[in-house]
Amino acid sequence: MKINKDYQITNSLRISSHSKYNFLIENNNDCLELYDFIRLQRLPYIVIGEGTNIVAPEYFNGIVIQTSLNTINNDKHLNVGASANWNKLVEFTIKNNIYGFENLSLIPGSVGAAPVQNIGAYGVEISSLIKSVECFDLSNNSFITINANDCNFKYRHSCFKDNPDLLILSVNFFNNLKKEFNLNYDSITSYINENNIDFNNLEHNEVAEIINTIRCSKLPDPNNIPNVGSFFKNPIIDNSRLSEFNNFVSWSVTDNSSKLSAGQLINSIKHLLPSFENVGLYEHHSLVMITNSKASYEEVLDFKNIISKTIFNNYSIHLDVEPTIIT
Ligand SMILES: Cc1cc2nc3c(=O)[nH]c(=O)nc-3n(C[C@H](O)[C@H](O)[C@H](O)COP(=O)(O)OP(=O)(O)OC[C@H]3O[C@@H](n4cnc5c(N)ncnc54)[C@H](O)[C@@H]3O)c2cc1C
Repeated sequence: MKINKDYQITNSLRISSHSKYNFLIENNNDCLELYDFIRLQRLPYIVIGEGTNIVAPEYFNGIVIQTSLNTINNDKHLNVGASANWNKLVEFTIKNNIYGFENLSLIPGSVGAAPVQNIGAYGVEISSLIKSVECFDLSNNSFITINANDCNFKYRHSCFKDNPDLLILSVNFFNNLKKEFNLNYDSITSYINENNIDFNNLEHNEVAEIINTIRCSKLPDPNNIPNVGSFFKNPIIDNSRLSEFNNFVSWSVTDNSSKLSAGQLINSIKHLLPSFENVGLYEHHSLVMITNSKASYEEVLDFKNIISKTIFNNYSIHLDVEPTIIT
């Protein structure tokens, strides 16, 4: 266990941000110490991983909790510590012929954060790979294992989003050794066809390379251009409204509802947005808010509010934010 005071919160929007305390969990016993520390300090707390999906305030008068649990154990199932880097895990699965992770290649962040918003990309969500999640419940000082069926996984949502008391310590994944790929996604099939690639003879690493190439052509690298990936979730509308959006891409969700592309909606109103000094939209993908490393928390939230308001005024659609806004 390590406790630091006046801690700098690293975040991929590069907002200058500090917290009163940082509490680093190095083993399970530290969780019990953390429970006492929280009760002693009587301060709010938040768990963070690599900070690639948060909007961090200038000062958080509370405790930022992090873990340094990064082991990968490949036995009956694959058990991975919360602080392991997600993409390192994807590379591990490819090396060890464990299938299913390749479409989620290059998603930034930690393994512990990945179930929180049920990370997904190119037709795959992490929920399909998870067996169970090992947690410490900060509300009652207990260790619990939550089976995937009880995680309430939905599009960019899980029970962990609703309950910030659940500190994820490790994730148990299925280690599927059967060679099967998920290639049934528009941008993957287009890429394969345009490049005359033989669908039937693809190797594991080649699928990941295809995904990496498509991703890099669309999304900015947060090391060069500060961002948190998609800033808004794709909105889900009732099918009775679909005719209003004939010119937009939509995906069927249920018999009665469909998902619209938030990026396309924002692109259609971006000429109505005022320009801000330190924040803007990524030129190749309007769903991605970018900063020049000088943006403040307020500026990011003001820009977000103007985008939401303009979308609502033009389309009567409410956009939900994807990253966690720390208050
Ligand atoms: C360029 C870019 C591309 C992206 N592409 C995608 C994509 O394709 N698909 C996708 O789904 N996401 C994407 N994201 C979002 C991001 O990669 C994921 O949300 C990732 O899981 C965040 O990991 P993190 O460790 O940085 O989490 P953080 O930003 O540190 O935290 C995110 C949330 O998880 C919670 N949390 C973190 N660790 C724990 C823990 N151990 N226990 C409990 N709660 C925890 C935090 O409280 C917070 O609510 C992208 C982001 C960027 C910058």
